[in-house]
Amino acid sequence: MKLQQSVQLFQRARQSLVGGVNSPVRAFKSVGLSPVFIQKGKGSKIYDVDGNEYIDYVGSWGPLILGHCNETVITAVEKALASGTSFGAPTEGEIVLAEMIKEAVPSIELLRLVNSGSEATSGAIRAARGYTGRDKILKFEGCYHGSIDSLLVQAGSGATTLGKPDSDGVPQAFVDLTLLAEYNNLDSVVEQVESHPGEIAAVIVEPVPGNMGMILPEHGFLSGLRSLCDREGILLIFDEVMTGFRVDYGGAQALLNIQPDLTTFGKVIGGGFPVGGYGGRQDIMLTVAPEGSVYQAGTLSGNPVAVAAGIATLTVLKRNTVYADLSENSSWLVNEMKSHCQKKGIPLQCSQMGAMFGFFFSEKPVRHYQDALQTDVGQFKVFFKSMLQAGIYLAPSAFESLFMSTAHTEEDLEKTAKAIQQSLQ
Ligand SMILES: *Cc1c(COP(=O)(O)O)cnc(C)c1O
Repeated sequence: MKLQQSVQLFQRARQSLVGGVNSPVRAFKSVGLSPVFIQKGKGSKIYDVDGNEYIDYVGSWGPLILGHCNETVITAVEKALASGTSFGAPTEGEIVLAEMIKEAVPSIELLRLVNSGSEATSGAIRAARGYTGRDKILKFEGCYHGSIDSLLVQAGSGATTLGKPDSDGVPQAFVDLTLLAEYNNLDSVVEQVESHPGEIAAVIVEPVPGNMGMILPEHGFLSGLRSLCDREGILLIFDEVMTGFRVDYGGAQALLNIQPDLTTFGKVIGGGFPVGGYGGRQDIMLTVAPEGSVYQAGTLSGNPVAVAAGIATLTVLKRNTVYADLSENSSWLVNEMKSHCQKKGIPLQCSQMGAMFGFFFSEKPVRHYQDALQTDVGQFKVFFKSMLQAGIYLAPSAFESLFMSTAHTEEDLEKTAKAIQQSLQ
């Protein structure tokens, strides 16, 4: 496989962009390779600048659940573009997208649209702090909630692969307000809550973590969080930036049947454009400006072109069998990998929910961040490289999830399964 053009572009990029990229994981640092520069995408495939074709299981890190250049989305965007790109004034599309989200996710009574997942979590915790009058936030080790000061503590995702789960530049005063607990370990939450009585505004959690690799919630963990929060007057925030409209149309909360107080969205709701959102209980959301005194604003928030892509995406996803098919394809692939590894005696742990799946090279089940850190990252690197060479584009890190799209065909899946067999001997 030739990658000269990509290598050259990366050299050039580093002269003007810090690290040659605009988001750290893209640099392929954790797999020790030079990143592939993409020229175009179509359906389940992406094509790099050297003309190599890949089956894409990253989908822009989650948004592209309909694949690249989905016709419904492109048509909607073209139509929106023709009427103007931004007004900084209300448009009808914003209402339509908000109504679709409300209809899909019953815990949402009121919503605010923003431009990214990070903005959504930042808005949600500010609202939670404003509503409760408390300053502390509890998060889980390895959960990623975007690139915002209060939540960049043991943050998972790119922060983990850089070997620095915490970020420099975050004032100690912010870190002190962020309490940590272990995912799937309710006792660790109880401990923090008991040591900080009446001080915690919110517990924020990825209901199904996807940023320390994919981990499933154990029975009773999320419902335990729900009752603990109710008892202590703490707001429960589900960060569904990844899982929203990904594991199911109603997100993880629909599948797991737990209602958070606030939910954050991003990725899929923008259909490949920058859209995020946060919302939930009306009494909490009414603290947000202009109704209340928790300030939050955005010049391009609810952008008409971005919102049109989101509406088109959700419209397609609303069709009946989409999630059943996505789930079936995801679990087929996971099972292929499982049975192959079993045959070869390669220790493997897998999880899958809807159109999201993940694996760890590990003997031991992975229940939380510390478990994830102990898995065989060396084996992942070798596997990643071999898959890339076979034309399969996976997330370039052992601590990320993979995404199925409606554009993936049976042929794509068969080809991927073959590549897995060749890559794991
Ligand atoms: C991607 C992600 C974010 C951040 O979203 P951006 O759009 O990258 O700012 C926040 N939370 C979770 C769970 C995510 O997966």
